Amino acid sequence: MSRIVFERLFLRLNVPMARNSSTAFLIEDPKYTFLRELGLDKKNVGVFNGNWKANGQIIQSFSPAHGKVIAEVQAANANDYEECAVAAQAAWHSWAELPPPARGEIVRQIGDALREKLQQLGQLVSLEMGKILPEAIGEVVEYIHVCDLALGLSRTLPGTIFPSERPGHVLLEKWNPLGLIGIISAFNFPVAVYGWNSAIAMVCGDVSIWKPSDTTPLTAIAVTKIVESVLRKNNIPGAIASLCVGGKDIGQQLVKDDRVKLVSFTGSTAVGQQVGVEVQKRFGRHLLELGGNNAIIVNSDANLDLLLNAALFACAGTAGQRCTTTRRLLIHKQVFSQVVSRLKTAYAGVVSKIGDPLLSETLIGPLHTPTALEAYKKTVAEAIKQGGKIEFGGKIIEREGYFVEPTIVTGLPHDSPLVKNECFAPIVYCIEIPDLETGIKYNNEVEQGLSSSLFTENLGDVFKWIGPHGSDCGIVNVNIPTNGAEVGGAFGGEKATGGGRECGSDSWKNYMRRSTVTINYSGAIKLAQNIKFGDD
Ligand code: NAD
Repeated sequence: MSRIVFERLFLRLNVPMARNSSTAFLIEDPKYTFLRELGLDKKNVGVFNGNWKANGQIIQSFSPAHGKVIAEVQAANANDYEECAVAAQAAWHSWAELPPPARGEIVRQIGDALREKLQQLGQLVSLEMGKILPEAIGEVVEYIHVCDLALGLSRTLPGTIFPSERPGHVLLEKWNPLGLIGIISAFNFPVAVYGWNSAIAMVCGDVSIWKPSDTTPLTAIAVTKIVESVLRKNNIPGAIASLCVGGKDIGQQLVKDDRVKLVSFTGSTAVGQQVGVEVQKRFGRHLLELGGNNAIIVNSDANLDLLLNAALFACAGTAGQRCTTTRRLLIHKQVFSQVVSRLKTAYAGVVSKIGDPLLSETLIGPLHTPTALEAYKKTVAEAIKQGGKIEFGGKIIEREGYFVEPTIVTGLPHDSPLVKNECFAPIVYCIEIPDLETGIKYNNEVEQGLSSSLFTENLGDVFKWIGPHGSDCGIVNVNIPTNGAEVGGAFGGEKATGGGRECGSDSWKNYMRRSTVTINYSGAIKLAQNIKFGDD
């Protein structure tokens, strides 16, 4: 391990190193004035429950493109978390009493406040997470879209009336808020994942504590400041949108807290499984959005221009750090060589566009951490050891920051443990298939079940693909990449991806409890199924 990588690892692990107190943070560089415009400072408070106050350890937030500290954040300790839970619960009563359309109006204003800070927040996501600016701005736009969706929902939240078999009775379903919910989010969507949960939960009448990734704390603080500004203007307690920056310890405290009715967890499958078990132990509710191992099937009749265009973004975009990134290309033998060769040409066209994600000419940014860099290096080495051929890339780029070459691997068996594992980096395995049936089998044989896509011009194959013997994923696309979902549909995956659904469609049901209500206005007791019990 080079000395520089070793030192960065040290800093990441929050191990105190001798550091010159006059070390320049990126926030002091005039290039990054947007940080100040978002209310950020050299040292920031990472806990909000109506007031900003934190007593936990100091976290340094790094720019992955530079490996330099942007600014510092004081995280939560156990007591800070406790204060957030108490304040949020106390604030719930008045929030739940507001009619849903009034809650929707607050969410509408949050959408507008986000619009005002769209550029700055996008720039912060780009600097702190490392995705390119258009994608970072797109992520904020996604939160704005969810606010629009939630606003509509606030006026259309349904309840059903069923015909009762008993005369003079009404049978209906009533939905009520859950109360306090916890949102634990991953580093790679530091704005959108919170938005998906928060906007919908708010109109449903819930209050929340957000535990963001401890490598994107500045984005969480900036978002919370925007939400706070709207709540303050409307005299609503800030604790309804509480924030607790912290690591695994704070996450575990939240997961075990039986005041938290729903834990919405987005992150790796390994951690998500522990979270699911812990929440189940106390009969809480969980919504798990975990890892993916997404495939595109290329039929022999696929429009290859379309496919190549989609695959470049799906496999190499975001430096492979989307849960929906394409990690496997299952290519029909008739077009296998042609697809691999054209994909290599397409990759060659983007290597000169790897760089600072804030620059307009950049198409691919860095990996997020030195740990991710190591995982990439290890996976490439293992692929070679197992007989794989590196068709393109395979190397760490020697420059400031955590950059790697997007990588294409051929020659590994479809069921090799490496191919079945989600390495969160831009590595795609190309695998030959004899027919669509085999492609579907390979698509479904991994433990994850998030996203999938079929490229074909054959209508019959489309229906096979979306039918009972087709893709077993939560997202089943045709002629588009595996990544880049819209907010209107429910988002999530099956199997080891956790089974949760967020955002559109009927995902709001996760954030509410259902009561089946029977009201008797007949003046007489009638039992269902016409049961007679004693004298009438
Ligand atoms: P991660 O699992 O390392 O961390 C996710 C969050 O969990 C962080 O906030 C972390 O601090 C917290 N955490 C860690 N240990 C915990 C514990 N024991 N209890 C409670 N919380 C704990 O994931 P990551 O590296 O930040 O994100 C990448 C992963 O997230 C990938 O696997 C990716 O596929 C997945 N992801 C999934 C979706 C989806 O919608 N399915 C979306 C984004 C990312």
